[in-house]
Amino acid sequence: MSSLDSSPAPAIPQSERLRITEIFLSLQGESRSVGWPTVFVRLTGCPLRCGYCDTEYAFTGGEWMSLEAVLAQVASHGVHHVTVTGGEPLAQRACLGLLTRLCDAGYEVSLETSGALDVAAVDPRVVKVMDLKTPASGEAGRNRYENLGYLSLNDQVKFVICDWADYEWAKQTVATHDLTARCEVLFSPSYGQLAPRDLADWIVADRLPVRFQLQLHKILWGEEQGR
Ligand code: SF4
Repeated sequence: MSSLDSSPAPAIPQSERLRITEIFLSLQGESRSVGWPTVFVRLTGCPLRCGYCDTEYAFTGGEWMSLEAVLAQVASHGVHHVTVTGGEPLAQRACLGLLTRLCDAGYEVSLETSGALDVAAVDPRVVKVMDLKTPASGEAGRNRYENLGYLSLNDQVKFVICDWADYEWAKQTVATHDLTARCEVLFSPSYGQLAPRDLADWIVADRLPVRFQLQLHKILWGEEQGR
């Protein structure tokens, strides 16, 4: 991605450096780890362009950091949970090394990924929170269904639902791939696009074995960056 090449890289091997948009402490707002104080490591760059994206500021810019510097900054926050996110973190190869180093250091590590890139080499100790992009996202064609073979019951697949048609598509996709037997399945309303109550009512009416979730950080802090 050319955006990552916009400033000179330091003299650190490519496998040991990452382009970072921000590292910050907040509460985990999504997934099974919701509510835990968590350090977020947001990597710069994403090859997708979802219509509802709320992190467009991470598409470009950022700063090169060595893995050592990232680990030191994470440690400075003094919490046990770390989420590596983006953008699309797996778009940078050194992300895999960072995930392993974080696990080795004893953190509970999760990875938020779009589902468009290969997750096969992600350290198995990492909880993968993987999107399957719906039609209304505009990026459903990027879903890499081979990734489903690398998910375990410790992992989660997340659908961000924009409308009724998305809901029907997600429901069908869960059934087609027997997703609830592979991992936990999360349905979340697209912020500002679908009334949370509508999605909740649909799930209850259908008795779907999926977990409804709201983005806790947006309820608490709106769309403030670094939260
Ligand atoms: S994958 Fe995530 S970061 Fe990339 S465009 Fe979609 S919502 Fe935004």
